[in-house]
Amino acid sequence: MRQEISLLGAKEIREIATSLDLVPSKGLGQNFVHDANTCEKLVRLAELKDSDRVVEIGPGLGSLTLALLRAGAAVTAVEIDKRLASRLPQTLREHGATDESFEVITKDAMQLRSEEIAEGSLLVANLPYNVSVPVILHILSMARISRAVVMVQSEVATRLAAQPGSKEYGVPSAKVAWFADAAIADRVSAKVFWPVPRVDSSLLTLRVHPPLSSEADRELTFKVIDTAFNQRRKMLRSSLESLISQYLPNQSSEEVLESSGIKPTERAESIQIEGFLAIAKTLQKR
Ligand code: SAM
Repeated sequence: MRQEISLLGAKEIREIATSLDLVPSKGLGQNFVHDANTCEKLVRLAELKDSDRVVEIGPGLGSLTLALLRAGAAVTAVEIDKRLASRLPQTLREHGATDESFEVITKDAMQLRSEEIAEGSLLVANLPYNVSVPVILHILSMARISRAVVMVQSEVATRLAAQPGSKEYGVPSAKVAWFADAAIADRVSAKVFWPVPRVDSSLLTLRVHPPLSSEADRELTFKVIDTAFNQRRKMLRSSLESLISQYLPNQSSEEVLESSGIKPTERAESIQIEGFLAIAKTLQKR
């Protein structure tokens, strides 16, 4: 249900921070958005419907949380910083949110369990920069999210949305493709944050599709990806040689790659996620 909710302005954000004696932590990626238009842009991109449930990682002082609640979503906000998490309900209530419309979980998003996320939820978040990729992969791996809109460092957004054949294509691009199609929706100026970070940000949309295969296949596929990109300039026949010999000691890496439909002379950066999965499947045919 849409609620009569007011958003946070720059002055109020400073006031709340002062009342908490908060010195924004670099380690926790604490750059707070003090521009309501940016929060509304994230909400528009999420195409929220009234009945939607949203998981927000790192609500901070509540700027985006209020914009999500105003759009009618029910929000589960996961915040690692105890001071911010315990202050958040007060801020949300003072701005017109009802207690039934939000839940605050005080924990590291990497420790979030699937039963804490409602089936079909959206992930909408201004993510802490230093953990944005592992957090995205962790949340997607729980198979509860239907789509996502996240704000991340522009360089990370470029890597997540990169396609095979480009120099930005790497481990995050290949792994996220297991779960979703990632696309950059917009750039965001560093000026919308307090404190102003040294890097630009981008908005990334993730259209979630069914996982490509079983969890066991995913684990081995991710191992193949990590190994192949560990020596990304080498041809796969040599970058994957030792991994292949662990699984199939009696076959050459050329044979294994060819029977997976992959040219042994290719490099990791030209392989689609389906190709890495094909290699993982061949490795299991002991
Ligand atoms: N959403 C707020 C906004 O847009 O103003 C704050 C975003 S700030 C970039 C990132 C937030 O994530 C901070 O509040 C920080 O304390 C929190 N955070 C950092 N690491 C976290 C983790 N591992 N799990 C949950 N929250 C985390």
